[in-house]
Amino acid sequence: MSEYLLLRHRQIPDIGNLTVYRQNEGFQAFHKAVTSMKPEEVTEVVKASGLRGRGGAGFPTGLKWSFIDKNKWPHYVVANADESEPGTFKDREIMENNPFQFLEGVMLCAYAIQANVAYIYLRGEFWQIAAHLDRKIAELHSAGLLGDNLFGTGYSLRLYTHLGAGAYICGEETAMLESLEGKLGQPRLRPPFPPSFGLYGMPTVVNNVETLTNVPLIIEKGAAWYRGYGTEKSAGVKIFSLSGCVNKPGNYELPLGTTFRELIYEHGGGIPGGRQIKAIMPAGASSSLIVANEQALDTPMDYESVPAVGAQLGSASVIIIDESVDIPWLINKTIHFFKHESCGKCTPCREGSYWMMHLTERIDKGKATWKDVELLKDVATQIRGKCLCALGEFSIEAVLSGIDRFRQDFEARVGAREMIETQP
Ligand code: SF4
Repeated sequence: MSEYLLLRHRQIPDIGNLTVYRQNEGFQAFHKAVTSMKPEEVTEVVKASGLRGRGGAGFPTGLKWSFIDKNKWPHYVVANADESEPGTFKDREIMENNPFQFLEGVMLCAYAIQANVAYIYLRGEFWQIAAHLDRKIAELHSAGLLGDNLFGTGYSLRLYTHLGAGAYICGEETAMLESLEGKLGQPRLRPPFPPSFGLYGMPTVVNNVETLTNVPLIIEKGAAWYRGYGTEKSAGVKIFSLSGCVNKPGNYELPLGTTFRELIYEHGGGIPGGRQIKAIMPAGASSSLIVANEQALDTPMDYESVPAVGAQLGSASVIIIDESVDIPWLINKTIHFFKHESCGKCTPCREGSYWMMHLTERIDKGKATWKDVELLKDVATQIRGKCLCALGEFSIEAVLSGIDRFRQDFEARVGAREMIETQP
């Protein structure tokens, strides 16, 4: 990127210092919004920018804000800083290094929906980042940027951090709200959705850290400026967390629509040891496996193009798999994760992930026959469409795509066992 919009600490040293942040247009957008814009005008600008949720779903952000129920008060904002998807590590870099831009995004969202309280829900392992943000929030109070009657208006706002206890499922927005209320972190049945029934049953907007970090520059520079990045339907920039079999793993902020090839070979330095790339998981462990052929490598990474090659962009945690990796082994690892993180509320996910774990283990150890592979496929298919939340659906993506697209790896695993069994 010639100009960073989100990872601005890479170009502006010490932007995590309040004075430096303010010298670089920091809090001008918030001041402008509170003193000279109506709340719905802020929402309209975000809508016009085409910004979509960066946590995974890609839902239009301004549209979500406009759904807030204006007949029920108070309203709340909850910033989703749970960042638990394997392979995702972008929100952490933002909060550690460019915290004020993120906090200003939370504050603009709060003003747009007229919330006087906003929470930042962080995964339990981020306790140091929570303490870091608490110090930044205290600085904002001292500077008169948080508190009562801001800039001489009647608008008041307070921010609080809250630590989870390390459960992946609390990244799901309704499980997060339950956890924030002090209950067991399990998803709610939806509808109703958070904009009408959220925290404490009140209208709530839940947005991801990266999503909110886009907002200050959008309000400051305008929707048309933001639309100058990315594609028509996937506007703006995205932080791609690149990991796996690649020479230079890390966070890369690039316009949406950048190809996999550019990310992996130009920015990521290619595959170690000159090996061949085999598969791509573009959305972390929740992702389908894409066969990394020429067509896939030339696919633009945006919300429309990635589904065309059989996966989702999700949170853009791009995991690279090369020819040295055995797909049944990889799938066994992902299923272990989902089995461990299933909250147990619904049977298909709770029992299905348990059985998929045992079947993939048997296949990985070379103790299975082809019937076990077919049984695994059957169990995964039975889970589809029958779960309360997306975790159950995510758990089968790698399994089904792996069996369908990398059949030869499974045949090799079961081949040895079948040969022994069929010997006279
Ligand atoms: Fe819990 Fe899994 Fe059901 Fe989601 S799909 S509610 S994680 S058991």
